[in-house]
Amino acid sequence: MLELKDFRTKVHNDWCPGCGDFGILNAVQMALFELKLEPYNVAIFSGIGCSGKTPHFVNTYGFHTLHGRVLPIATGAKLANTALTVVAVGGDGDGFGIGAGHFVHTGRRNLDFTYVVYDNQVYGLTKGQSSPTLPKGEQTKSMPFPAIIEGINPIATAISSGYTFVARSYALDVRHLKEVLKAAVLHKGSALVDVLQTCPTYNDINTKEWYAGADLPTKAPRLYKLEDTGYDGTVKNPTDHNEVTQKKVQAMTRSFEWGDKIPIGLFYRIQQPTYEDMIATRMPSFKEVPLTKQDLYGRDVTDLFQELS
Ligand code: SF4
Repeated sequence: MLELKDFRTKVHNDWCPGCGDFGILNAVQMALFELKLEPYNVAIFSGIGCSGKTPHFVNTYGFHTLHGRVLPIATGAKLANTALTVVAVGGDGDGFGIGAGHFVHTGRRNLDFTYVVYDNQVYGLTKGQSSPTLPKGEQTKSMPFPAIIEGINPIATAISSGYTFVARSYALDVRHLKEVLKAAVLHKGSALVDVLQTCPTYNDINTKEWYAGADLPTKAPRLYKLEDTGYDGTVKNPTDHNEVTQKKVQAMTRSFEWGDKIPIGLFYRIQQPTYEDMIATRMPSFKEVPLTKQDLYGRDVTDLFQELS
């Protein structure tokens, strides 16, 4: 019988004490366990950064890839074996900086997989330079000057790129993050989970005290859950263009709330044909039997050559 410890490894973890990555790691392991996924049916891919070590700590198949290249590699794995549950992880610098082009075009495909971004607004592994999500004008302790360019909005970018499940959670609210991750993995299509992650070593602005609102006159937590407000980001009729547009605009509008109040939870969800569905319209066997289990070399391709000649 599967136990939570079956998703843990004995690899030494060298993340800094108090790092929000620990919360994300725990939530990933708990989500996979509660979904009753067998470790040998799951593959976790990572880019470069502190988050890149995640596959070392989760007892599934794993691949620590190159900076910014986690999404094409995860895409290749999913296409090769559609039976796999694929989870890609990476930092905000990895995904929205060098990997930004892959981020956009992966969303357009709507491949059935989950992308978890450890969003701490800095490049932690290389001593805390500003990442693409640090808002303009902010200055963390290792920066000589405040950021002079605008940060990007991952939620709005994901929705406009075509991701069909777009959510945000918080690394230190493991219960909430675990539930968001479970919903993301169960979703058929490309799911982005942007996780606000504390980096106590380099980000001295967006600390756990800051997220808790300790600096505000009200002392009220900055983070609030969309689901507690009656917000509903799920498209009921995906063929209704007006509803789809209205839900996208609603989600994007909420995603720009940043300051005294910051929403977390599910911003947008729609069921649409996946990349795998679209390939199967041309190649029915693609969904019936994963490519890794097909006898590709023994196939008679005479018809194909005649068509191309
Ligand atoms: Fe975590 Fe920041 Fe340390 Fe990296 S540098 S392990 S993100 S606290």
